[in-house]
Amino acid sequence: MELYIHIPFCMKKCDYCDFPSGAYDATVRRDYSRALIREMEMYAPLFSDAVFSTVYIGGGTPSWLEWEHMERILLAMRRCFHIEPEAEVTMEVNPGTVSAEFLHMIKKQGVCRLSIGLQSGDDGELKTLGRIHDFARFLHTYELARNAGFYDINVDIMTGIPGQTTHSLGRTLSDVIRLKPEHISCYSLMVEEGTPFYERYADDVKRQLQGEPTLYLPTDDEEYELYALARELLFAARYEQYEISNFAKKGYECLHNIGYWRRVPYLGLGLSAASFYGGHRYTNCGDIFEYMDMIISGRAPVTSDVLLSRDDAMAEFMYLGLRMTEGISRADFMEEFDMDIEARYGSVIRDLTAKGMLSLSGGRIALTPVGRDVSNTVLCEFL
Ligand code: SF4
Repeated sequence: MELYIHIPFCMKKCDYCDFPSGAYDATVRRDYSRALIREMEMYAPLFSDAVFSTVYIGGGTPSWLEWEHMERILLAMRRCFHIEPEAEVTMEVNPGTVSAEFLHMIKKQGVCRLSIGLQSGDDGELKTLGRIHDFARFLHTYELARNAGFYDINVDIMTGIPGQTTHSLGRTLSDVIRLKPEHISCYSLMVEEGTPFYERYADDVKRQLQGEPTLYLPTDDEEYELYALARELLFAARYEQYEISNFAKKGYECLHNIGYWRRVPYLGLGLSAASFYGGHRYTNCGDIFEYMDMIISGRAPVTSDVLLSRDDAMAEFMYLGLRMTEGISRADFMEEFDMDIEARYGSVIRDLTAKGMLSLSGGRIALTPVGRDVSNTVLCEFL
């Protein structure tokens, strides 16, 4: 079983962000922290037999929460749930929000992995994104983390930033690779409706969708060039690609995310957090004040409860599992659904294999490098 804890606070909202997060004041941060602990206490009896092998504390910017609140949350987490002694416990931190004291405290409370949201090493690109930090601040954060004894660090990089070139991305990656983080994630920017970014680039988004030349955002071909460059530089630096967007030194893959792609059950706590157990997918309330009210009145803050059909579960098995380089196992499919994978997806698998998108070997099915380049299209075939 896995545990996810959501901390929805940021110093300032970034222009492209549609995550459940915001720049709330100190009173809200304190009240939310208390509500989160109440939610843990609420779920503790239900999960008294569960053993949690990974924890992911994401946001938002967990490192923006006052360290006293964070310490109480981490202590409550261990009081309420059985976390394995060797569990992978990750916390997201953002440059410019972290102090040495905070890092020492979370390390003492069992956080062993950090994920740092750099996004770009180019200060102009960071400004375009509306981030609060520059590259110098990231370097300072990274140094603080190493000095505090963190030897398992992920750095998030973004592709597809308006104005980004292969040259600027190459420089970002070289600068990051030189620091030797154990893990690098490389996601492409999504321009989401309702964000300042969408308003700024709405015309370009329409051009992108129609396959027309864009003014600021990358075209599909440019996006592909950026991704291909990232992969080439990371391979050259001996990072292994274990998932479409994730690269790691051997032995430093993120176990929490692997669990998600393998459909390991998880409990999500906090604003908008999602859970998956007993065949259901649950989602918590997305309004922070309503979330806190529900908890104060003794109600679980769940606003959506979907029982997955067998077909939905099979589709999830395929499109989540195929994101990983190792792909999926025919035997696992049989064990989980008591059905041969050929009986359900035989024609799709044959078709994609003939097109060079899937490879079949040793009882496993995986995306080929060509399939990975058009993964969205390939994975949709299983929906
Ligand atoms: S730091 Fe992350 S969660 Fe916070 S506003 Fe920026 S992108 Fe969103």
